[in-house]
Amino acid sequence: MSRFTGRVLASTDGWTTCSQGHRHWGRAGAAGLLLHRNGAEGPELLLQHRAAWSHHGGTWGTPGGALHHGESADEGALREVREELGLLPDDVVLGARSVDDHGGWSYTTVLARPVRSIEPGDLRLDGESDGVAWLPLAGLPEVDLHPGLAGSLPRLLPLLENSAQ
Ligand SMILES: [Zn+2]
Repeated sequence: MSRFTGRVLASTDGWTTCSQGHRHWGRAGAAGLLLHRNGAEGPELLLQHRAAWSHHGGTWGTPGGALHHGESADEGALREVREELGLLPDDVVLGARSVDDHGGWSYTTVLARPVRSIEPGDLRLDGESDGVAWLPLAGLPEVDLHPGLAGSLPRLLPLLENSAQ
């Protein structure tokens, strides 16, 4: 029997099951960036329409994904919007964080505001989504939301209200 003394950097990509019995992508948890701005009729959120083949395809959600080994939620959220939308860290200023802890798996939503004009036509989609749009917060009940975002919304609303001033 050999004694292994090295260090294994396991990939964090992969499915895991939380203690609530859901399947989630990302063994070290996941994070997403919730970009918000003040629209004519209240807050607007930059959401992605997930490609049909993806998990919960056809729903609107925050850009985000599995955290890498040793990565903070802020770092992961910024990396994901770079990969998925072509947004750079200097394009946004980070705000509050909200953790949706399922037990054994958690999703951290990092709020952020754009520091320049960001319009969907300027963004470069990577194929995980087939659309991106600023959706008015008041109109969210009319669209199909990703269940993770829908479940986090009660926690996110007060944070959005606080940062609206
Ligand atoms: Zn879960």
